[in-house]
Amino acid sequence: MRSWLLCACALVGPLASGAAQEPTPRTFTHADTLRGADTPQRAWWDVIFYDLHVAVHPADSTIAGYNGITYRVLRPAREMQIDLQVPLIVDSMVQDGRRVSFRRDGNAFFATLGAPQRAGDRRTITVYYHGKPRAAVRPPWDGGLIWAQDSAGNAWVATANEGLGASVWWPNKDYLADEPDSQRVAITMPDPMFDVSNGRLRGVTPHPDSTTTYEWFVMRPINNYDIAINAGRYAHFSTIYAGEAGPLTMDFWPLAYHREAAERQFTQAQSMMKCFESWFGPYPWYEDGYKLVETPHLGMEHQTAVAYGNHYGNGYLGRDLSHTGLGLLWDFIVVHESAHEWFGNNITMQDQADMWVHEGFANYSENLYTECLAGKQAGAQYVIGTRQNIRNDRPIVAQYGVNDQGSGDMYYKGGNMLHTIRQIIGDDAKWRGILRGLNSTFRHQTVTGQQVQDYISREAGVDLRKVFEQYLTTTHVPVFEYAIVDSTLTFRWSDVIAGFDMPVKATVSDSGFTVLRPTETWQRTAIHLKDPVTFHLDQNFYVLTRHDAAPPPQTGR
Ligand SMILES: [Zn+2]
Repeated sequence: MRSWLLCACALVGPLASGAAQEPTPRTFTHADTLRGADTPQRAWWDVIFYDLHVAVHPADSTIAGYNGITYRVLRPAREMQIDLQVPLIVDSMVQDGRRVSFRRDGNAFFATLGAPQRAGDRRTITVYYHGKPRAAVRPPWDGGLIWAQDSAGNAWVATANEGLGASVWWPNKDYLADEPDSQRVAITMPDPMFDVSNGRLRGVTPHPDSTTTYEWFVMRPINNYDIAINAGRYAHFSTIYAGEAGPLTMDFWPLAYHREAAERQFTQAQSMMKCFESWFGPYPWYEDGYKLVETPHLGMEHQTAVAYGNHYGNGYLGRDLSHTGLGLLWDFIVVHESAHEWFGNNITMQDQADMWVHEGFANYSENLYTECLAGKQAGAQYVIGTRQNIRNDRPIVAQYGVNDQGSGDMYYKGGNMLHTIRQIIGDDAKWRGILRGLNSTFRHQTVTGQQVQDYISREAGVDLRKVFEQYLTTTHVPVFEYAIVDSTLTFRWSDVIAGFDMPVKATVSDSGFTVLRPTETWQRTAIHLKDPVTFHLDQNFYVLTRHDAAPPPQTGR
């Protein structure tokens, strides 16, 4: 999720050279490093299993519970970092039936383990905690616990904490590169609230004090920020989808009074599944199923329990982000958030600095879904339309190791970069193979953005390093600078990084597009156009053009 759509976004027009403003340097704190780095107190252990039990008390907005953290020792150590955000309180930590001493440093706790931690050991530490967690300010973007009511006045509780971190409501290793292999999520709610969390429901246990525990179990690795509480008065319906990897359960949890609307709107989930399995490969979580759960916030890619708050209408809260009308053909939240099951959940960034791996591809999936519904031209029109939302304010890739996040351009510019790369490759079968290959090669893994870039270059057989560098690390859109004199086209790239050599398609004759290979050096080629004014680039490439009246004095080769 995390779409910033508040901008009165400047239309992308011709850039004077270096026109984009350089961002002010960002400063980071000790707490940012504790949150975002693979600290020595994290690096020595690998999470195997989280056994999370939380009782939720909407009456006073408090929670209490424990997490049993089972881990493998990678190398011997004594001090262990476990994250739980202020103002929550750790009551105790226990290992082998003995209390473990710990100190607090803001949102991080450092436990001093008494028992020896030998490499290869599998051990468990249980963290008991309670308190009044941070309430969400503007979920899902500014998240935390969401204490809401539905329209009928029933209590409705949810969580949304991407970026902020799962440790806003439960103790864990709040570091993206380490996912548990499986997880229990046992949530206790006052009756008659029903909790829908991730994975499959294994048990419902009523208690004498008019509360009930809903025990959900996730069998495959999961992002900690995807673990969610969604508790309210839900209706439930389901279907079995005949997918690429066999029968897939698709379960839908609208609020009770939205059942009919949901039965109508959520049929889109099946065409989404068909389209994305064809482009990305099998849905990554057959064992844990697919779910859409209505939430008081707009949406989030909560793995196997996708949060839905788009009011059962098409578009993004009724709007079309592409300004073409095509975005109203489908429900933005069903499509965008579900795409994250492949890009974000199956393939997960190790550091938030590489969030384009989630959002660039999820944005791009909107284009592919439009293509599935309305054809290739429509898909292209959609993604090109979203260029109006690009700001080029800051680089997309942010600073590593401090839980930093790059520009919101990771969405529209990320999608347009991928659409441009599809044009460079110029072979849709190969492109589909790359998208599917990413999902099979990095299945259920965390990755660096570099791994994704290297994979695409290798499989494409094209060195795309400069393309990624230009679009992900600068705010400059490549400018195709050209002049036409008589029947000679003079052209080059400007406003690009050194060595930028992306090919582009242009109408050098009346018979259609030809591939040109501009560099920073002026080149010349003959053109055969009845009317030179009709010269243009293939607009599927996200670049700008600058027409010079006369060729440069020295035109090189
Ligand atoms: Zn997203």
